[in-house]
Amino acid sequence: MVTSDRQANPTAQVVDFSNTEIAFAHKSDGELRRTSWLFRLMNKAWLVSTGGSFGLWLNSTGISLFNPLIRATIFKQFCGGISLEDSTEAIKHLQENGTMSVLDFGAEGNVKDEDFDRTLEENLKAITYASTNPGVPVISSKVTALASEEILEGFQTGKLKTQAENDAFSRVQARVDKLCLAAWKNGVAVFIDAEETWMQDTIDHLVKVMMEKYNKEKIVVYHTYQLYRKDKLDSLKADHKEALEKGYILGAKLVRGAYMEKERERARVKGYPSPIQETKEDTDRDYNEAVRYCVAHYETIALCNASHNQESNLIQAQLIAEKGLPRDHSHLNFCQLLGMSDHITFNLAKAGFNVAKYVPYGPVKVVLPYLIRRARENSAVSGEMSRELSLIVSEMNRRGLN
Ligand SMILES: Cc1cc2nc3c(=O)[nH]c(=O)nc-3n(C[C@H](O)[C@H](O)[C@H](O)COP(=O)(O)OP(=O)(O)OC[C@H]3O[C@@H](n4cnc5c(N)ncnc54)[C@H](O)[C@@H]3O)c2cc1C
Repeated sequence: MVTSDRQANPTAQVVDFSNTEIAFAHKSDGELRRTSWLFRLMNKAWLVSTGGSFGLWLNSTGISLFNPLIRATIFKQFCGGISLEDSTEAIKHLQENGTMSVLDFGAEGNVKDEDFDRTLEENLKAITYASTNPGVPVISSKVTALASEEILEGFQTGKLKTQAENDAFSRVQARVDKLCLAAWKNGVAVFIDAEETWMQDTIDHLVKVMMEKYNKEKIVVYHTYQLYRKDKLDSLKADHKEALEKGYILGAKLVRGAYMEKERERARVKGYPSPIQETKEDTDRDYNEAVRYCVAHYETIALCNASHNQESNLIQAQLIAEKGLPRDHSHLNFCQLLGMSDHITFNLAKAGFNVAKYVPYGPVKVVLPYLIRRARENSAVSGEMSRELSLIVSEMNRRGLN
């Protein structure tokens, strides 16, 4: 029946994101109640604001008094575990529900060489782990967890003058290469996150060198394009042209971008034009155009649509259906964060698309800043229910749990 509907009209009901039954099928009634309680707490802006600042302060002092409480609540919702082994259960659970995992070691704000080396070791361990776990085709890494912001910014502005600075940059190149080589050897892919504009040209340079080296026969390295930037739709197309000329597959993870306020504020203070689109509609237009472009060139671009925006996900799903492309083609991927937008992830999975969750992991102290960002994102300033909470409430109503 489904097949004949698809043949008659390939876009009919490609995927229905309002289906909360499929979205939350992986949660028992008890789990759904606990999730609802957690999102109700996060909905209280004052609680998230004071709790978040207090949590960050406690973390900086090394006091871990509340770690067991955090682990049992918000950590459980948004993180896989405190280590790779501890994340195995979450990965298995996702895989049983048709969803892959992208392992993301939650290190942030590193400043010393030994921290960068430790993060690299963690990333390499994640690659080895992924190579034996079919539920993990990709790991994710951030260049600022492998390099100091000063060196990245210095390279971008041509200010690396001393031998010591140039040596430091060579060590960054060596770390990134070691990471991508290990991924290539182990049959695992790597997403390299996009960051702030004042370091991103350096990241662009590092990642393009890696794609040219390791993406010749298969997709290993994915670059990230932030479409909230005015220039990134053009960069995507220019990078694709360059990849075609040089004979490698372009890895394109698309995101809207996470540092909008910071970018605008810096541009204002320093007196240069903001690199960020003027309106949300402009960002959406470029994002959706980038999705269309990547799907149109899927044979030479490996796409990961990393978004919680329903329309942007639907556009890709509909294009795949309209063009009659294989839904499980390895170049046509979707990705959301663990603990969020289950209505998108599990409905895409059920409809046969390649979908994954970013699964952050690490000790509570390491992932706490990430957890606080997730809580802030889910707290409603207007007093209305967040999107996540209203979906959970719909499912509870459907199950007669309210
Ligand atoms: C799997 C995954 C990986 C990610 N990796 C990265 C990464 O490597 N680097 C990174 O920077 N971010 C990353 N993000 C975060 C991402 O950039 C977005 O901040 C977040 O996903 C929200 O955007 P959206 O597409 O989900 O949905 P939406 O809620 O539709 O979009 C919100 C986004 O739109 C943009 N926006 C909002 N208001 C305006 C405005 N007034 N003018 C212009 N633009 C506006 C902002 O980018 C904002 O974050 C990732 C997200 C996911 C799901």
